[in-house]
Amino acid sequence: MGSVSRREALRRLGLAGLGMALAGPAANREAQGGEPTMPQPYALPTLPYKSLDPVIDDATLALHHGKHHAGYVAGANAALAALEKARDAADFALVKHWERELAFHGAGHLLHALYWASMWPGGRGKPSAALQAALDASFGSTDKMLAQFAAATKAVEASGWGVLAWEPVGRRLVVLQAEKHQDLALWGAAPILACDVWEHAYYLKYQNKRADYVDAWMKIIDWEAAGARFQAAAGA
Ligand code: FE
Repeated sequence: MGSVSRREALRRLGLAGLGMALAGPAANREAQGGEPTMPQPYALPTLPYKSLDPVIDDATLALHHGKHHAGYVAGANAALAALEKARDAADFALVKHWERELAFHGAGHLLHALYWASMWPGGRGKPSAALQAALDASFGSTDKMLAQFAAATKAVEASGWGVLAWEPVGRRLVVLQAEKHQDLALWGAAPILACDVWEHAYYLKYQNKRADYVDAWMKIIDWEAAGARFQAAAGA
């Protein structure tokens, strides 16, 4: 993928300007204007669609994006500011607290950005040829991956996520659970798809039926976006 089309892909995913590694180091540099080491404040991405009804009701979508996700953005920026202050004062008495805040809110922000970019009204496209080959090699088939993804996501203990990620050392796709936002992460793995199973993601419509929400979620996966993220992460 050339630089222009990658930038266009990021724009369509609502990820441009986030300065995040979701789509790989090259895209990260582009989002930051070619300065790979210039930090950017985190910002709430604009949703690339108006509605995901009937799978996700509009009230849940508005609350989830405008309140919950916005809270993680603010929390991550607050943690970064507090750590800068601690460095300037050479006072690290609260460093454990702020490092935890950074991991929780930072991971919360990045996973929510990926969550919005994992869905499209009614679903969209199918895996690219490269992503399809990786799905087949890593799981046997797309259906086998989706069965594992759904089972793992439904079984997350308490609040968390189901994540499809590219693990570059073993060069394989893996399905991971995340508890809260940051626990059980696999360092270096680049997330490709994410399904939020915090109750705020589904409780208004599905109440305690998390499995019904996850099964419905499988029907609105944005495979076009997943293929672009896979290409950026794996260079395939
Ligand atoms: Fe959430």
